[in-house]
Amino acid sequence: MTQRLYSYLKDPYLTHLPTWVLEIGELDGRPFVILNDTVFYPEGGGQPADRGRLGELRVVDVQKTDGHIRHFVDGPAPTVGTSFRAELDWSRRFDHMQQHSGQHLLTAVADRLFGWNTTSFHLGPEVCDIELDTPSVEQEQLDEIERFIGDVVREDRAISSRQVEPEFLETSNIRSRGLPPGHRGLVRIIDINGLDECACGGTHLRSTCELEAVKLLGTESIRGGTRLFWVAGRRVLDRLHRHELRNRRLRELLGAADEELPEVAELKIEQQKQARRRLQRLEQRWAQAAAEALSSRQGPWVEAHFEETGAGPLGQIARTTVEKSPDLAVFLTAEDEKGAYFVLAKGEQSEVEPAQVGPLVAKALDGRGGGKGAIFQGRASSLERRDQALAALS
Ligand SMILES: [Zn+2]
Repeated sequence: MTQRLYSYLKDPYLTHLPTWVLEIGELDGRPFVILNDTVFYPEGGGQPADRGRLGELRVVDVQKTDGHIRHFVDGPAPTVGTSFRAELDWSRRFDHMQQHSGQHLLTAVADRLFGWNTTSFHLGPEVCDIELDTPSVEQEQLDEIERFIGDVVREDRAISSRQVEPEFLETSNIRSRGLPPGHRGLVRIIDINGLDECACGGTHLRSTCELEAVKLLGTESIRGGTRLFWVAGRRVLDRLHRHELRNRRLRELLGAADEELPEVAELKIEQQKQARRRLQRLEQRWAQAAAEALSSRQGPWVEAHFEETGAGPLGQIARTTVEKSPDLAVFLTAEDEKGAYFVLAKGEQSEVEPAQVGPLVAKALDGRGGGKGAIFQGRASSLERRDQALAALS
């Protein structure tokens, strides 16, 4: 089939259009309409579908199937012949035009400066990326691409489209990643004056100055190639704005200037690690002292409760106590901000059986636990009925 020249291709700056319903249908329960002409771009070539309104209906997706453009709407499709005003979500579309034209320019410059081919393009809601057929990219090369693009933006080069015969592609230098299956008829070419020609069905800016800027963000390796992340147009300022807000917050939190933020953050993390290690050492010494005190008491059961103590130190106190006094058994509980814990442990010469009384204690504390032989430990839902747990020991 031949490619029909819809209004969104004839004039990508057209934001609304009087139109009427040619055909209606449904796909997987989603109603759609086909119009006699449209300003809505259907998803394709890396560029997402447009959004907007058809009269009162919201257009939630636009897809091209067998040459027909299906406008999926958020309500029952109107009858065939209904006419209304198609209204484009222009700020979303203009953003897509900035990103897509930015991609053409970026691809052309990467090829011109370093001979890298672009093998795919993805226009994300926040960030765009292209895949380049090079295993690695240096920061200096990214800087050079960015500077070159900046020059082209300032040169205010015209971006235009025209239609050519498909055979023309084979004999020209026009970039093309192959025509879509079933394509017949003329092929649309996007031309950045004096710099690049590319077969493309997308919507584009009319001049490089409307790109405002292109900022390369970073790369990652992928299947022998390199994925390059970037943003163009208004997204550059939006991103800078978010960076500034984040930096301001970090400056307040860390009490440092922008340039010092990474070093100050590194220092704070190191200090925190040291403090944690010191806390662990103190906790161990404290557990040792607590076990010392418990081991001097009389059995057969010794019990104690510890506030602001976790399951780890609690187990350590229990084990150390019965090591020091093998004729004792201990029942210990503790609580910290994460929950409540209990432990039962017996020394070698103690005759009580933690594994037998453990489940009774767990039940009294509405908790769960486990263990075999000399130790039984677990978590408690609450320590309110600690007295009942104590009663279960005897
Ligand atoms: Zn394109």
